[in-house]
Amino acid sequence: MNEITNPFEMVVSRIDAVCDRLDVKEAYRLRLENCERELIVHFPVKMDDGQVKVFTGYRVHHNDTRGPAKGGLRYRPDVTLDETKALAALMTLKTAVVNIPYGGAKGAVACDPIAMSQNELERLTRRYTTEISLLIGPERDIPAPDVGTNPQVMAWIMDTYSMSKGYSVLGVVTGKPIVIGGSRGRLEATGRGCMINTRLVAEHLGIGLNGATVAVQGFGNVGSAVARLLVKEGSKIIGISDVNGGIYDENGLNVEAVFRYSQQTGSVVDFKDAERITNAELLALPCDILIPAAIEDQIVKANAANIKATIIVEGANAPTTPEADKILNDNGVFVVPDILANAGGAIVSYFEWVQGLQAFFWSEDEVNHQLQVIMDNAFFEVLQMSQSKKVDMRNAAYMLAIKRIVDAMETRGIFP
Ligand code: NAD
Repeated sequence: MNEITNPFEMVVSRIDAVCDRLDVKEAYRLRLENCERELIVHFPVKMDDGQVKVFTGYRVHHNDTRGPAKGGLRYRPDVTLDETKALAALMTLKTAVVNIPYGGAKGAVACDPIAMSQNELERLTRRYTTEISLLIGPERDIPAPDVGTNPQVMAWIMDTYSMSKGYSVLGVVTGKPIVIGGSRGRLEATGRGCMINTRLVAEHLGIGLNGATVAVQGFGNVGSAVARLLVKEGSKIIGISDVNGGIYDENGLNVEAVFRYSQQTGSVVDFKDAERITNAELLALPCDILIPAAIEDQIVKANAANIKATIIVEGANAPTTPEADKILNDNGVFVVPDILANAGGAIVSYFEWVQGLQAFFWSEDEVNHQLQVIMDNAFFEVLQMSQSKKVDMRNAAYMLAIKRIVDAMETRGIFP
């Protein structure tokens, strides 16, 4: 059988296998294997040179049985509807596995944010927000940052939506700057959640984080935060990469210096005092822990056997294909799946939304503590499922999530 490369088909194949195992009724299976709403928009934006360009964007609701649809917004040149649908489905599973009261959504615009000016990005964001305004809202669908977007983009969405209502609506997005109702701890929340999962799995396997060697692919919001937090736990980050390539030091990189360098230059490559390596070499580094935190489809059939790490913690969404999963399992690699490993951002987004709705804000310690409580709980629920059903952590996480979503669908019944 050829390796599935369509991202939505990949998620559906995993849902299908778990529905077989759980004996899920056909009607619920079909609802999980289709998205509830898929909006495609083509909209004009005035560029700085006076030209008008037409961009294509998407907003997808996969399933909102357990609560409002929740999911990030991605700006990337080659993003597709199927990629957006896959990411929306992963959000439904993610919010269910950590048991927060949301469904799953995702949005995307095919554009190159690095090549655009801030003014162009603002006009694009405001127009896209208007185009998808029939879907979003604090009780309906709440976007957040993802690849290529950031707190400033969330601020423009919040402002545009609020202008159309005539009053300020804090709960329409999460991942906002703190000055307009963002949550303390949200910026690093996905990385912190990854670090917590890494600590839990390392303890479970008797390795411990102190002195553990780690390679991190991707040095954006997630990769940089998890690398910096793992250094505080005593781990040695021996390799880091971004879209331009990677760097390596067997004695451990100075991660704070690499962070400053990449903030200044836009990349980690050419950081002095480190050896230059490729992304393929980074994934194959001999180390205890590998954290893919870039984009999907990085660990595939062709390179899975090269991986030497004992543990993989998926900071990115869908970095591993189902074919690669089989190879990793056969080789005894312990994988903490995306829907658990990177759920920290969704969890603190939930806190941000709750704080905004109540207009009552928590301290950073409180946010981090509550994140830890939810993460610990989710990790051990998945681990227990994995041990009792004798399945890997990904199948266990899918089983836990699908059971919760199907229970909710069954309880609500079918309208009308
Ligand atoms: P980001 O845009 O801040 O950073 C992405 C990083 O990946 C950059 O360093 C980029 O150079 C690198 N990269 C891109 N293409 C690459 C390639 N082909 N090879 C190697 N590196 C590459 O994005 P982010 O927010 O850090 O998201 C990273 C991943 O984590 C994505 O899969 C995203 O969906 C997932 N995620 C993000 C959040 C969040 O809160 N931001 C939450 C959950 C999951």
